[in-house]
Amino acid sequence: MITKGISRRRFVQTGLCGLALGGGIGVSLLRDSSQVWAQTFIRPPGALMGDPFYAACIRCGLCVEACPYETLRLFDYVGSADTGTPYFVAREIPCEMCVDIPCVQACPTGALDPALEDIKYATMGVASLSHPHLCNSYVGAAFCDSCFRACPLQGEAITMKVGATGMGGMFTPTVDPDICTGCGKCEQACIAQPAAIRVSPSHAE
Ligand code: SF4
Ligand code: SF4
Ligand code: SF4
Repeated sequence: MITKGISRRRFVQTGLCGLALGGGIGVSLLRDSSQVWAQTFIRPPGALMGDPFYAACIRCGLCVEACPYETLRLFDYVGSADTGTPYFVAREIPCEMCVDIPCVQACPTGALDPALEDIKYATMGVASLSHPHLCNSYVGAAFCDSCFRACPLQGEAITMKVGATGMGGMFTPTVDPDICTGCGKCEQACIAQPAAIRVSPSHAE
């Protein structure tokens, strides 16, 4: 079960982490159980990748506490290497790409890399029109550019490419993976249910 909130952080700090980290259970062995959620949930800006992140993150929750938009949560599924680590769900509350990146500033260990000084260079993930058949513009059901308008890097990370899509539409939301930060605002804004455009988390690659 995944829940949100600082009260959960206390729970994680005092109980679950001790179980996972102090009980002699190897982090690498536990990681396999996290594969399913890892495909969906996104790490905060500046998060180290792979083993360095697991080694550096002390599950303190200070990044969660610092996030002004309540974007971040701590993973509290028992028995996972990811237990107590921060993440967000783009479809629910995306990252607002704060200019001062308070989550990174709050991290005491460098698990969220302080070298990230410009949020535009965050690499949380990459969005793509992964389910084009659900996109109104792509299939020509109606014109929609909700994802485009939601993007903090509108016109750079995402454009509305004009041209026949082959499925009846004339517009394709097109993401530049080199510029997209993976903030997830496009995914949240997508009017399709479920979303036609989705972020693939960097840590799950
Ligand atoms: S950049 Fe801002 S909104 Fe995004 S996770 Fe960090 S504190 Fe939260
Ligand atoms: S502030 Fe840093 S060490 Fe603490 S939970 Fe967040 S990423 Fe981990
Ligand atoms: S394309 Fe989507 S995930 Fe990428 S920066 Fe824009 S809103 Fe964020």
